[in-house]
Amino acid sequence: MVSLGDVPGFIAELTAAPGDNPELLLQHLLQVQQRYNHVPPAAAGLLAERLALPLAQVRAVVDFYAFLHAAPRGDFDILFSDSITDHMLGSRDLLAQLCRRLDVAPGIPRGDGRATVDVASCTGLCDQGPAMLVNGLAITRVDAPRIESIAALVEAGAPLDTWPAAFFALEDNIHRRDRLLQAPREEGAALRALHQQGADSVLENLQASGLRGRGGAGFPTAAKWRLCRDAPAQARYVVCNADEGEPGTFKDRVLLNSYADEVFEGMTLCAAVIGAKEGYLYLRAEYRCLLEPLQAVLAQRRKDGLLGRDILGRPGFDFDIRIHLGAGAYICGEESALIESLEGKRGVPRKRPPFPVTHGFRGQPTVVNNVETFFAATAITRFGADWFRAAGTEQSAGTKLFSVSGDCERPGIYEYPLGTSVRQLLEDCGAAEAGAVQLSGAAGRLLPASAFDARLAFEDAPAGGSFIVFGAQRDLLDAVRNFTHFFAHESCGFCTPCRVGGTLMKQLIDKVYAGRASEYDLQELRSIGSLMKRASHCGLGATAPNPVLDSLDRLPDLYRRRLRDTAYEPAFDLDAELEQSRRITGRDDPGAHIGNEV
Ligand code: SF4
Repeated sequence: MVSLGDVPGFIAELTAAPGDNPELLLQHLLQVQQRYNHVPPAAAGLLAERLALPLAQVRAVVDFYAFLHAAPRGDFDILFSDSITDHMLGSRDLLAQLCRRLDVAPGIPRGDGRATVDVASCTGLCDQGPAMLVNGLAITRVDAPRIESIAALVEAGAPLDTWPAAFFALEDNIHRRDRLLQAPREEGAALRALHQQGADSVLENLQASGLRGRGGAGFPTAAKWRLCRDAPAQARYVVCNADEGEPGTFKDRVLLNSYADEVFEGMTLCAAVIGAKEGYLYLRAEYRCLLEPLQAVLAQRRKDGLLGRDILGRPGFDFDIRIHLGAGAYICGEESALIESLEGKRGVPRKRPPFPVTHGFRGQPTVVNNVETFFAATAITRFGADWFRAAGTEQSAGTKLFSVSGDCERPGIYEYPLGTSVRQLLEDCGAAEAGAVQLSGAAGRLLPASAFDARLAFEDAPAGGSFIVFGAQRDLLDAVRNFTHFFAHESCGFCTPCRVGGTLMKQLIDKVYAGRASEYDLQELRSIGSLMKRASHCGLGATAPNPVLDSLDRLPDLYRRRLRDTAYEPAFDLDAELEQSRRITGRDDPGAHIGNEV
């Protein structure tokens, strides 16, 4: 570990750049964490001083994010992805194996500071799991021999850049391309179309295409851009939400890895339509390996006149994009929490309305769209609304990317026209005999085999993109339990129904899973779940009970066969407890027994 003696120099260097401001707090803290394996108190104090922030605020930010730590972690900070798909591939055994080899307990740094072995929520590598992060870098396809090699490398203190490159191999795994992924590619073509058609025409084209946000909510993209453009403002902003943390989702990773130009071009189109000068890509920390390649794409676009001042030689068309890293908080995928995080604060969702589209980043109108939405907007501007609408259904135009993982022969990315059946996708990915599918991540829908004719479309089975396949042999309660743990872990803690309710649901589902629950516990699960849905501050708390409530309704046998006893039984025999009193008073007549009182 680097000596703490150079903390003042490092903080001075970090904060020396012109334009440094409190919005960069989270970015600075990530660099401090990376250098010292934690955020030393001296660094927190100096950052508070340099950014003119209360020290309590700096500490609160450190506490909030899972990838920041006030106490030292090991020199090798190893985080196993804790997604249900990693579990299905044996990640729990692999974690136990590594803990044994390194003689370390999960979550606790080893005495000599060499390593910490812990878990992290889904790392977005479900198509090539089991996966782990080592000091923030992803390692895929972990197996028992790889664990042995990793243990040896850690013991030897081998720097990460000397580890075998194959460990860090990241594949796109695109198995089906449709109009978006197979369209001819040409850097800058959509921006040239913008200059020929004009911004108003680009917006009309987008509206005619019927494109709806690909993050899950499905809000019409053109309407969002128009609302932002028309809102009174001193400035407007474009934000690309690349914080996909929904378990089983990894399509943004693939788009940013291989189609970043199109994503940045979509952001630039949006800037032209709404009149923005600044844009941000909010990149989840789990995808840190993409940071440098993405910076290189941005640099190239600046060089090619596609970003910066007077884009494509048009005076006054100025726009540039910065990348902000997240720090391991699923809640930051919620757009108002993301904006808080972008401003350097804890990612606590804002009260809405007002919505970010009128009061977003720095209180100004802001378009927040998902990676796939910007990617699609670029293609629509180039090839037209009719080209896009020719696929899909009336209410769900176009094609969509699905992240397919779990019990199938070919996990990866599949692009389909919306309206395609679940069954079709299962056949294509090699899972025709599947027992169930979880759509749209942990808060989505669990479809049993009887529902495989459902169509993947907003009007039937809406799918944000995550498609987890469960074989007929799988214990689905294990998946429900994993999702419930996930939500309890990811609750931001701001409101009581979600903070306390999530933990109670986690404890109850563990009780059911262990075979110690009774009918009363199921009633408790229902009542806490419905309270969370009604009273939580944001969508996370409101949807967190879905896996439990949904499965209680549609798959009650999952629970009933595990109940200890389905009848109520008193757990305390009051009459027996009174025996000693009876002996002391010398009574054993019927009146001295419970139930015979006069
Ligand atoms: Fe935070 Fe959960 Fe409340 Fe949302 S519902 S604000 S995630 S505690």
